Amino acid sequence: MDFEVPEEIQELCRAIGTFIDREVRPVEEKHHDELESRGVTPHLVGVARDIMGKSVDAGFYALGMPEDVGGGGLGELGMCFVRETVAGSGTWLSLLMMGDLPFGPNRMLYELGSDLQRERYLMPLMRGEKTTCIALSEPDAGSDLSAVQTKAEKVDGGYLLNGKKHYTTNAPYCDFMQVFTRSEHGHSILLVDKPSEGLEIGRIQKSMGEDDLQSEVFFDDCFVPEENLVGEEGMAFAYAARFLSNERIAIASTAIGVMDRLVRLMVEHATTREQFGRPIGDNQAIQWMISDSLTELYAARSMCYDTAWRADQGENVMQQVSMTKLFATEAVCRVADRAVQIFGGMGYMRECPVERIYRIVRVMRIAGGSSEIQRMVIARTAGVGN
Ligand SMILES: Cc1cc2nc3c(=O)[nH]c(=O)nc-3n(C[C@H](O)[C@H](O)[C@H](O)COP(=O)(O)OP(=O)(O)OC[C@H]3O[C@@H](n4cnc5c(N)ncnc54)[C@H](O)[C@@H]3O)c2cc1C
Repeated sequence: MDFEVPEEIQELCRAIGTFIDREVRPVEEKHHDELESRGVTPHLVGVARDIMGKSVDAGFYALGMPEDVGGGGLGELGMCFVRETVAGSGTWLSLLMMGDLPFGPNRMLYELGSDLQRERYLMPLMRGEKTTCIALSEPDAGSDLSAVQTKAEKVDGGYLLNGKKHYTTNAPYCDFMQVFTRSEHGHSILLVDKPSEGLEIGRIQKSMGEDDLQSEVFFDDCFVPEENLVGEEGMAFAYAARFLSNERIAIASTAIGVMDRLVRLMVEHATTREQFGRPIGDNQAIQWMISDSLTELYAARSMCYDTAWRADQGENVMQQVSMTKLFATEAVCRVADRAVQIFGGMGYMRECPVERIYRIVRVMRIAGGSSEIQRMVIARTAGVGN
């Protein structure tokens, strides 16, 4: 195993850094107050689409997708390096330039999508003309997706959908939804256009991240044509298991990029902020918080690179993916907590970057399979529990 970042990826990461400085940072600074206090406004949706469009033009939007559909053809390890660069940049809007889950193109549509689905859904996602969302969770089905109740009843020419989803990221702003349903032959995935008769976006669900990205979704006799079934009926669990790994590695590598930035901020503050006539970093108490954070960053990064490399070799990495997601997301929350502590009162203030990071990283331990669910997977893959 050689985790030296290849020269071409280093060059790509530098180009991404330049893109962020030129196209994203000024926009984020301009809309800082709006982003902080009012969540996504219609105006900001336009801003987001603009960044996505520029990223598509620059060739950064779908780096993890195969080249034959216009993607960058990067493997999991290459994507880890790229995501670290983006997440470590200190900008939030830059996450949109990646076309990552849940709003952009994904491997499931690439590998399972019919020709029609590729043309109608995947390719517009690749070009940044459309966005999507992934609607799995329901009020009574979160960690346990087997409890999903949204029902797809077979009718002439398609399905009638009835049920309710919640916490669906990007549902209010997307062009179509990827909906996990219960159907006659088990659970299935359907593509639902927005708008569609019988589909209603419910209230925005205000969150700790204050971004207004999640909402409820209601289906009331919503007709979905047969050709919008992804893959085969009854195979949704197998597909989820196959494609969830990408999301989990993506969350872990994003956590690592954020941790890297936090450590840089902590070191800078510890060496410049003076109390009792000397930098606070001269105190062992502060040094240890930085040392522990660096150690956890190193461990998380090593795990992530190893897991991504193994995935690229075609190994079954289900256990490693869960261990990496678990460790990296728990670690980033500990590091964010230490960062707030090192910044003191400033760390609690909205004007300080670590305050927002502290709030935003919290979701990483919940979404994409909670820490407890990762532990469950790790135990099961070790032959314990069922
Ligand atoms: C910001 C945000 C964005 C989201 N975006 C999306 C999205 O785009 N699409 C989507 O479908 N969903 C989305 N979700 C939902 C997310 O996937 C769920 O919140 C998550 O799967 C947990 O489900 P739950 O909230 O119902 O919690 P529950 O499943 O009720 O779990 C509650 C607690 O119990 C624990 N628990 C549950 N089962 C076990 C067990 N067997 N053993 C031990 N502990 C257990 C959990 O770990 C958790 O700590 C999002 C959530 C958030 C917060």
